Amino acid sequence: MADPAGSVLLFDVDGTLAPIVDDPAAARLADGIAARLEALAGRYRVVGAVSGRPVSFLAAHLPAALSLSGLYGLESQVAGRRTEHPEAERWRPTVASAAARAAADGPAAMVVEPKGLSITLHYRTDPRLEPDVIGLATRLGQELGLEVRPAKMSVELHPPIDSDKGTALLALAAGARHVLYAGDDRGDLPAFDALDRLAEDGVHVARVAVGGPELPVELRDRADVVLDGVEAVPALLDALSA
Ligand SMILES: [Mg+2]
Repeated sequence: MADPAGSVLLFDVDGTLAPIVDDPAAARLADGIAARLEALAGRYRVVGAVSGRPVSFLAAHLPAALSLSGLYGLESQVAGRRTEHPEAERWRPTVASAAARAAADGPAAMVVEPKGLSITLHYRTDPRLEPDVIGLATRLGQELGLEVRPAKMSVELHPPIDSDKGTALLALAAGARHVLYAGDDRGDLPAFDALDRLAEDGVHVARVAVGGPELPVELRDRADVVLDGVEAVPALLDALSA
């Protein structure tokens, strides 16, 4: 890219930088990704991760030079400083009770991933559970006032706060002349929406969809570039460093 000092590179993590695995705790960056990201972070205005994961997970697995936005924008870490959305903290007990209820009431094969300010209910290990898990999430969302957001082979319960990958992208991309975002899932659509808004304001944007059998058609259709999968990401990073 011709203008790295004016350019921001943002990446979803699971399914984009890290292969999706059955146990979300076991996910790791694909080979060759971390060193390339770290090198890019030394040259670009911002290189960052925008994820549904907690910032604590992102900080443990990504190079320290990256800016991090976790829990769909509810948490962030920029230049080593962690911050939280001001309205989020009061939802922590509600989210904890949703996690406890989900673990008690949900099907045994469902994986509950408590993330502090949000939770994810996974049915990847048994896709037949989808209707039960969605039904449980919908019930808990209605009872506790949480938002239900479908994700890849999973569903998220979130505080009803205006925060998603789009708001996270806009925060990290402030002032940039070029912004690239790469993602693989429906949760990345708000980031593509945010790129559309930046493009209307004259910012150069690149929408990258990272493919695979589960790539949603709505994301693929809006992408400027479609990669074959996580294994194609190192070549993209190399092109960005050229
Ligand atoms: Mg993803």
